Amino acid sequence: KLSKRLEMVSQYLLKNSTFADIGSDHAYLPCYAIKKGLAKYAIAGEVVEGPYQTAKQQVMECGYESSISVRKGDGLEVLQPNEVDCITIAGMGGPLIASILENGKDRLLGVKRLILQPNIGANHIRNWCVQNNWVIIAEEILEEDEKIYEIIVAENNERAEVTHLTDAELLLGPFLMQEKSDVFIKKWSDELKQWRIILDRMNLAENQEKIIERKLAIEKNISLVEEVLT
Ligand code: SAM
Repeated sequence: KLSKRLEMVSQYLLKNSTFADIGSDHAYLPCYAIKKGLAKYAIAGEVVEGPYQTAKQQVMECGYESSISVRKGDGLEVLQPNEVDCITIAGMGGPLIASILENGKDRLLGVKRLILQPNIGANHIRNWCVQNNWVIIAEEILEEDEKIYEIIVAENNERAEVTHLTDAELLLGPFLMQEKSDVFIKKWSDELKQWRIILDRMNLAENQEKIIERKLAIEKNISLVEEVLT
């Protein structure tokens, strides 16, 4: 059975899409999408030999060799221009997802939609989207097995909409901070607690001048989050 997290990612695939799942590991997501008729063709990309073999095995066991191409390579380098209309990248940190997109910019030609699921640091992805003219069209936050995950869906900004986001929107998510779900409130209340503990510790440290910038950054985040939560 597919995780709730990956199932939610799959719901954002464009109808009848051809998509690439980068960092596919077991290729669970491509296999599920083909099985459910959510996609007509998929590419599973993996950079590490072990997971690449596991993905190939899984696709073979499902008998999907004609609809899923498993490729070994770093990030988007496994793609040819105009090969897919959607890209999913799930289960990694936000900075890694953002760097995969940044390093593979030239492979995004023809891609209409990105469905990105960072485990942490979603703000790095929102930053990348704003800087590279991708518009965030939807977001999800969910809890599974006591972990909280975010999903960011972005589309190629063909209509040249304004993509600017405020500092609060970059950190918390423009849609998520409007919706303010219970999971969202839980996530950010926990973050606030952690930041306050860190600040208290920092205030006891010697050489305050060396940590002043980090302290200011945390204080800024605290006030951004407090404003949205209260
Ligand atoms: N996407 C699956 C999921 O969400 O359950 C698997 C997530 S797994 C934690 C991350 C996978 O990404 C690993 O199998 C790792 O080898 C792969 N990976 C990390 N960096 C990558 C890169 N630059 N290109 C392709 N795959 C990468």
